[in-house]
Amino acid sequence: MDYEGIRSSNCTKCKEAMILVSHKFKPPQKSDVAGWKIVKLLLDKGFRFGSVYTPLDKNILLKVTYPTTLEETKEFVKLYEPSPNAALLDNYEALKQGKFK
Ligand SMILES: [Zn+2]
Repeated sequence: MDYEGIRSSNCTKCKEAMILVSHKFKPPQKSDVAGWKIVKLLLDKGFRFGSVYTPLDKNILLKVTYPTTLEETKEFVKLYEPSPNAALLDNYEALKQGKFK
């Protein structure tokens, strides 16, 4: 994805700054409070729902599945939290560019 030339904009309803996420993001149902808690935690930690990879071996990256429970999410965040520079990148790109901690 091309993140050049992105402008920040605010929500027309609540005026909060909007967060650009990957097209892969699947929003929970409006009534799914637990689901939105997970989304908020992931966003707060810099995840943007792009693909997340973990190094499996030398030059081998394994694609990681996003968590579905709050417990899993806390673990996921600890393991895969992107560095600030990598927040807008798929971590695959970040790993390639050496921006992933
Ligand atoms: Zn809003």
